[in-house]
Amino acid sequence: MKNDVHKFTKLKPTEVEKYFETSCIKGLTADSVTKRREKYGDNELVEAKKPNLLMQIIHHLDDITSLILLFAVALSAYLALTTDSDWTKAIVIGAIVILNVGIALFQEHSAEKALSALKSMTQQTVTVIRAGEKQVIPTNELVPGDLISLESGDIVPADSRIIKSTSLSADEAILTGESLPIEKTANAMDVAPESLGDSKNMLFSGTAITQGTATAIVTATGMQTELGKIATLLNTTQKQQTPLSKRLDSLTKRLSFVAVLGGTATILIATLFHQETFTESLMFGVSLAIAAVPETLPVIVTLSMAHGVQKMAKKKAIIRQVSAVETIGNVNVIASDKTGTLTQNKMTITKYWPENKNVRTVEKIKGSEKLAKEDKQFLTYLGLSTNAELTTNGKADIGDPTELAIVHLLARFKMTRAECEKSYPRIAEDPFDSDKKTMTTWHKRPDGKYVAIIKGAIDRIPFGKSVEKNKLYDIHDQFAAEALRVLAAGFQVFDSLPAERNDDALTDIQLLGLIGIIDPPRPEVIPAIKAAQKGGIATVMITGDHLETAKAIAQEIGILKAGKIAITGQQLNELDDEEFAAKIDSIRVYARTSPADKIRIVKAWQSHGAIVAMTGDGVNDAPALKAANVGIAMGITGTEVSKNAADMVLADDNFATIIEAVKQGRTVYENILKAVEFLVSVNFAQIFTMVGAIAMGWGAPMTPEQLLIVNVLADGIPGFFLSREIAEPGIMNFSPIKKDTSIWSRGLGKRVAVRSATYIILILAIYVLGRFGLNNNLPEIGTTMLFLVLAIGSMLDIYPIKTRQSITKHAYTNNPALNKSLIFTLLGIVIIALFQPLATLFSIAALNLTEWVIVIVAIFIPTIVIELYKRSQGKIAKS
Ligand code: ATP
Repeated sequence: MKNDVHKFTKLKPTEVEKYFETSCIKGLTADSVTKRREKYGDNELVEAKKPNLLMQIIHHLDDITSLILLFAVALSAYLALTTDSDWTKAIVIGAIVILNVGIALFQEHSAEKALSALKSMTQQTVTVIRAGEKQVIPTNELVPGDLISLESGDIVPADSRIIKSTSLSADEAILTGESLPIEKTANAMDVAPESLGDSKNMLFSGTAITQGTATAIVTATGMQTELGKIATLLNTTQKQQTPLSKRLDSLTKRLSFVAVLGGTATILIATLFHQETFTESLMFGVSLAIAAVPETLPVIVTLSMAHGVQKMAKKKAIIRQVSAVETIGNVNVIASDKTGTLTQNKMTITKYWPENKNVRTVEKIKGSEKLAKEDKQFLTYLGLSTNAELTTNGKADIGDPTELAIVHLLARFKMTRAECEKSYPRIAEDPFDSDKKTMTTWHKRPDGKYVAIIKGAIDRIPFGKSVEKNKLYDIHDQFAAEALRVLAAGFQVFDSLPAERNDDALTDIQLLGLIGIIDPPRPEVIPAIKAAQKGGIATVMITGDHLETAKAIAQEIGILKAGKIAITGQQLNELDDEEFAAKIDSIRVYARTSPADKIRIVKAWQSHGAIVAMTGDGVNDAPALKAANVGIAMGITGTEVSKNAADMVLADDNFATIIEAVKQGRTVYENILKAVEFLVSVNFAQIFTMVGAIAMGWGAPMTPEQLLIVNVLADGIPGFFLSREIAEPGIMNFSPIKKDTSIWSRGLGKRVAVRSATYIILILAIYVLGRFGLNNNLPEIGTTMLFLVLAIGSMLDIYPIKTRQSITKHAYTNNPALNKSLIFTLLGIVIIALFQPLATLFSIAALNLTEWVIVIVAIFIPTIVIELYKRSQGKIAKS
């Protein structure tokens, strides 16, 4: 490996250029890119192959539910072989097992398809220079020899040899385990590096640029990279369990346990007290086990989550961790960046103040006006201290919006950065970072002297003694009170260039002036913050901007209201943990913060019992994004590092999108609970009815095949479509659900109890009526009537369950797919009941008119009871 890398580390940049037949200035030609793509393929790590169909089927049969079913098949087969019973049972149960696995595979496949479609939305990109043109391309299109340009916050897209760098460091923990950033340079290395970590002039795929900028030539792509060599094939479709699905899993397991216990008890009761044969009682036991298990629930949970992910993506919230779908619905604090998320990030300089002059209002100065000498000098220095570039059509302007605002101002007065740099060539740069909040550039002046220009946060520039601070701060505060983002600028002239060109050399900074930048709030943010508040969610603003600017904007958008306060990062540092905890609920704005403050804020809120969503865009935000319950990165302005650390990415950087995601998250959660109510109460009813009837000595009132038809066909199929239920009108009007809240609280337990009880009473009564009341002990009539009432009744009462609104409102119209599935399953049941061969197969007897009338009346009873119960709870949502 050492020599492999040394092949490039020992070369000079010009030699690397030659080796790859590329150009350090123009990059590759279009022609050679095409050829190399053919030769090297996509710059991607190869994914592990998906398990084949057989493995997937085995995986589905590998849970307790399927094992019970398989046991039932085996038992029926055994009975068919050893006794006079036929093969019907074994075949029917077997067919239902196949149907169940088939449905699960299909639903899972569509859920996976939905999730993998998202992958392309989070495709990483890179700036590459090809044929002399800078362009942004998907990283998978890179080829060896490509000339790429990287900056702080980027994830290195392929192994590359650095040919130019400024203050470059990279975090290579992913490859080497070293947690501290490694400094990097372009210099050739004489001695072969001991390890990857010592390869100072190389950047490796998958590592992160933590500081500075680099131009590099790609040396290896895809599986040829060092990461590719060590990566055992990636399995990107890892399955994650959300807290809710974990709880539901344990619910299913507990139900299965109850089933096994109940089954054993039934076998004992049946053989000991009712003199049934052992094999027959074994069949009862198996039926009971089948009755107890909600076979389709796990797939409904997966499907609901996938559907939520898809809907969120449509609303521009891209989920990276499926568990975030659930967590986002339950957050009670959203800590949001200001710039770009709450505001538009469309920065325009509205005012500026050249030192010693009056404040200039840009709007009042005509573009054609001849500028005063001081203004021209002021703007020239400002232009020199930026890295932004305007393109002719304005569509692909490159650079930080704050800096673009500066070059736009220059353009208004027919000035360009390039022109400024012609007279003042740049020698060095100390780039901006949000910890120090300043940026410095060094230039040679036309008079042969040198000048360092520093711009940034007023309180972070150590101005010299001669600068009159009072006046400076007066004007600053005046700008800030108008919600303007203020940048101060200063300079220092040197006769000769200092050896170390860093901020320590700046011992006597002169004032250049101030600029005031407007960044209007996003219009959707004000209603979104109101909605959050209504939903019991506190919105907190965290910004690097000045306290006064932050306060002015926070008031405008409704974050900072009476009784709430704003503090600076410095004031925060002065609070110890206890003092902070006491105040945390009242602090709504944190200004002049550094990324490290964010972790403290997240953790403090969490120890306050809150579930926190936190936004972040910079490379230093990654730890806070990981610490938050839902880390949210910015799709447009965010660094790749922050996106990698996030659970969710906002494709539009917009705060309002977070609130949409909360709404969707809550809807998914509710829909899953609706599915639990819909399925599990029928399981309970089945268990009690079976045990009750067997205890009474009536034998099993339903056959295993009938139980399966109810669970998999009648309830299972419509149940899938509960995942498509749209948000309830009042979904944002209740407080978030606390972390350890049981799923049975908030009324679900009672609703399940009412529905189970309704069915137990109803179907036992129907059974008794059918078997003894209307006939002289005809169990098959009792069973048939019970089956029809349970199957059709538990299908129809999906309507009062699916909505918290009155059943007469939208319930029948807002989910057409569910209606179709109901018609389909209803037809299925009717065909089973009326089509003789099928009826015989499922032990369904022919009913007379009276019996049919009773069945038809009875199937509506649960719907009426549930709707009335819902109303009695007074929780009907208004639309
Ligand atoms: P948020 O965290 O809400 O996105 P922000 O973008 O305002 O906040 P920073 O980017 O850290 O936070 O900016 C903080 C301060 O740094 C600004 O108020 C400004 O004074 C200064 N600043 C921002 N951009 C630059 C830049 N390109 N050059 C110099 N100084 C800058």
